[in-house]
Amino acid sequence: MTRTVYLNGDYLPEDQAKVSIFDRAFLMADGVYEVTSVLDGKLIDFGGHATRLQRSLDELELRAPCDMDTLLDIHRELVRLNDITDGLIYLQITRGAPGDRDFVFPDPETTEPTIVLFTQSKPGLADSPAARTGIKIISIEDQRWGRRDIKTVQLLYPSMGKMMAKKAGADDAWMVEDGFVTEGTSNNAYIVKGNKIITRALSHDILHGITRAAVLRFAKEAQMEVEERNFSIDEAKAADEAFITSASSFVMPVVEIDGVLLGDGTPGRRSLRLREIYLEESRKTAV
Ligand code: PMP
Repeated sequence: MTRTVYLNGDYLPEDQAKVSIFDRAFLMADGVYEVTSVLDGKLIDFGGHATRLQRSLDELELRAPCDMDTLLDIHRELVRLNDITDGLIYLQITRGAPGDRDFVFPDPETTEPTIVLFTQSKPGLADSPAARTGIKIISIEDQRWGRRDIKTVQLLYPSMGKMMAKKAGADDAWMVEDGFVTEGTSNNAYIVKGNKIITRALSHDILHGITRAAVLRFAKEAQMEVEERNFSIDEAKAADEAFITSASSFVMPVVEIDGVLLGDGTPGRRSLRLREIYLEESRKTAV
């Protein structure tokens, strides 16, 4: 089946959806995005993603091409047209194609933003084998720009980080700045000590994960302690457990950091419990 995608108001076969070479995202990474997961044909945490999208747009003085209710309708229609049971919906909004290259933002009155959405079918997304074994990570220097709270499409360094991990025989990388872990290449990072979940506090240094917000809320409800503070790679290596969160991996246990096994090298009890709670609770509020 040919995938149907959404581009600027139209539902099109993927090979007919074309964007200008002058699009600001192509020339300058001038665009923002969101990834929302789909389980059992329903969108997980859509409200959180829509709110963060609006914030990213506002921070960059980028105009939303439609309201958030319309956006929900488009997401749902793509799920229907592509018959998605489990998978992801990628959304990107850019500053559009002014018809030439110029560092100065184009006049929003004359240059329409570009909006693209497409689906990625991932049967069994919530039943990932990696969640049973846990993943291995390496640490790398954080070399990204200073506004990581804005979800822009400048993903070259995170992409390089994934490649560094792959070459080192690991699954992912945690980035370190001034001696402390910021986050994973495409996820938020946590360590567990006893009953305490430790993760970096929100600031411009990290993306404000939608999954992070939900998981911290569920952790507190499950009587776990939550400490939002910096931690180092050495502290992480000595932790009882570690995990990552993102819309596509949910809660994923980490079992090895820079070649050092955490505990007995199997997913931690609390990480697995949080994964279970997250999946159960977020399915209940899926739309
Ligand atoms: N940090 C970074 C750098 C990310 O790219 C992502 C995923 N897009 C996350 C954290 C997790 O955010 P969310 O839970 O909203 O997917």
